[in-house]
Amino acid sequence: MAELREDAPDRAGPPPAEAGALLTVDLGALVANWRILKARAGAASCAAVVKADAYGTGLAQAVEALSAAGCRTFFVAHIGEAIEAREVAPLAEIYVLNGLVPGTCGVMAGLNLKPVLGSLEEVAEWRAFCGLEGETPGAALHVDTGMNRLGLTVEEAHELAAEGGVFRPDLLMTHLVAAEDLADDTTARQVTAFEGVRRLFPGVPASIANSSGIFHDAVPRLDLARPGYALYGGNPVPGRPNPMRPVVTLRSRIIQLRTVPNGGRVGYNGQWTAAGPRRIATISAGYADGYPRAASNSDVKRQADAPAGAALVAGRLCPFAGRVSMDLITVDVTEVPEAEIKRGHFVTLIGEGLDIDDVGARAGTIGYEVLTGLGSRYARHYVGP
Ligand SMILES: *Cc1c(COP(=O)(O)O)cnc(C)c1O
Repeated sequence: MAELREDAPDRAGPPPAEAGALLTVDLGALVANWRILKARAGAASCAAVVKADAYGTGLAQAVEALSAAGCRTFFVAHIGEAIEAREVAPLAEIYVLNGLVPGTCGVMAGLNLKPVLGSLEEVAEWRAFCGLEGETPGAALHVDTGMNRLGLTVEEAHELAAEGGVFRPDLLMTHLVAAEDLADDTTARQVTAFEGVRRLFPGVPASIANSSGIFHDAVPRLDLARPGYALYGGNPVPGRPNPMRPVVTLRSRIIQLRTVPNGGRVGYNGQWTAAGPRRIATISAGYADGYPRAASNSDVKRQADAPAGAALVAGRLCPFAGRVSMDLITVDVTEVPEAEIKRGHFVTLIGEGLDIDDVGARAGTIGYEVLTGLGSRYARHYVGP
């Protein structure tokens, strides 16, 4: 487990000695996770999806570490993210998942960024540009096999292919709707539909698997795997033991300890009532730091035994008391011996066994949202590889 550090942070943020919370990103674990996924992908190459600031962990740091480990292909969502990735990975293949914003072909081609073309309109704009420029920089073609979100329909892919060998993407891809749910037969139907599309573009490398797809027996490995979440420690096989190493540790500082008498209510709107005298630690993080407000605890939740947020305090899992505020969270630390905690100590919100999937579930959301929400007020440290 990463040590607490008091030296200067590795990225814009407060000095750790003043910070309300410390975020540690273990780049060694990130690289180890990429290697696990690469091994699972078999003969396929393994890319890294680093959109949304590498799922909140830091895009430049992630791309640099993964490049050094041998990763050659990256996926981002936005052009700005691609530009940031290009600065640290001058030779990498960089795909932009959200496709072509009208009028941005020049920016894309200028930096050798590859749009993931998701409609016939985008294909037409890209081809017109390539014609004018007299060259054909690469692009991926995204075919929709069930998400109904981005990508050509299977019929449109047929139309495009029927035009004959003019358009040859660098990569043919589709995206799985529910790869983490082994009981959902949508995956098998998507795989079948995509096999049909692949026959239209013989010889074009193909990609289908996200993190969970890499662990799904019905999903072929094809030429390129595209994991994101699992790289950052998320569990690609929900309900089974997580094969990935944790990457993120988030600790927040206790700024006050107090005893609330029996019947005292804690937090906005008094949603949580002390049953007997309770010791409350107020910690310096809140929803403004990206910690979900939906992790608030209340009397109603306690009675229903419904999931609520928790923190590890001196090694014990302690439930939140009341609402998550903008800058503060109140934690019921009554079970922790008084001598073991004091003002200024840190509690753990993510890590040390409290993994991001668990944190997401306690907030009624998914670990993806917890990660990508990681705030900008933390003092960040990068360790490894
Ligand atoms: C985000 C994304 C991925 C990565 O998915 P994970 O579930 O995070 O592994 C792969 N492909 C596409 C098209 C995506 O948008």
